[in-house]
Amino acid sequence: MKVVEKAPAKINLGLDTPYHHRDGTLEWNMVMTSVDLADYVEIATEPKHPRIRVFTDSGFLPNDQRNLAYQAARVLQTRFHIHEGVTIRIQKRVPVAAGLGGGSSDAAAVLRGLNNLWQLGLSLAELAVIGLEIDSDVPYCVYGCIAHVQGRGEIITPLPKLPPMWIVLAKPKISVSTPGILRRVDYQTLEHPDIAGLLTGIRDQDLPQVFATMGNALEPITANRFPEISHIKTKMLNFGASAAQMSGTGPTLFAVCDKQSRAQRMVNSIRGFCHEVYLVRPLS
Ligand code: ATP
Repeated sequence: MKVVEKAPAKINLGLDTPYHHRDGTLEWNMVMTSVDLADYVEIATEPKHPRIRVFTDSGFLPNDQRNLAYQAARVLQTRFHIHEGVTIRIQKRVPVAAGLGGGSSDAAAVLRGLNNLWQLGLSLAELAVIGLEIDSDVPYCVYGCIAHVQGRGEIITPLPKLPPMWIVLAKPKISVSTPGILRRVDYQTLEHPDIAGLLTGIRDQDLPQVFATMGNALEPITANRFPEISHIKTKMLNFGASAAQMSGTGPTLFAVCDKQSRAQRMVNSIRGFCHEVYLVRPLS
């Protein structure tokens, strides 16, 4: 038996960390939305052999236990004492290590798919708790759409869908290490975005308020190391973005526009100097 699950990219409209826990993990206060750029994850159960196999078309992603999709299958197989194997085939469309949560979304797709194929009957909330064992973005990716994310990533509150908008994603050709950026968080100097204001803007469907309150507390840390971040952001704002910021720990920047024509012009202009550029829309 097999299913195909879409695994969409996410962006952080708001990203803040108010403090860290005693075990060193960070407390999050984030607003995330999924967008219509997605990997396709085919999940097939294999009754004859308990092994887990992963195939991707990316050419450089690991196919073994380092792959987050593999880890998702292993966690369910072990926890529910399943003797079947799983074959996972991933068509990679979301840029890797970009701050777009592609690996976490693949893992969430495997959790949802195997929950159906193995008839485990787990709720999204139960899958989210299991997903936290894999990565802090997996619980959100289990739900997708637009949500307020708190705790270590496991407290997910779905939000009303956004009014129409267009989003330009631009990924510069630089490698950012997520643990490397998180290690540099200094709570003495961190500037906290107005997540409460952002939540109000979304609940009131007030786009100007949403644009005015978007923010990513980690952006200055990545931008300090990689000048391309500020460079692309400035270009986006000069090209007429209503707001622009980094997603996750970067390096992808995104610009939000309330007009499709403006977003399309921005794509054409940014393609001239940025490695990968996409025009996407939030998923509802
Ligand atoms: P994070 O912020 O969690 O590091 P990200 O959104 O920046 O994630 P991902 O595309 O999820 O980036 O990749 C993060 C790391 O996870 C990469 O080093 C990659 O090799 C590894 N990885 C493991 N499995 C996958 C997968 N299925 N897809 C993408 N990356 C994966």
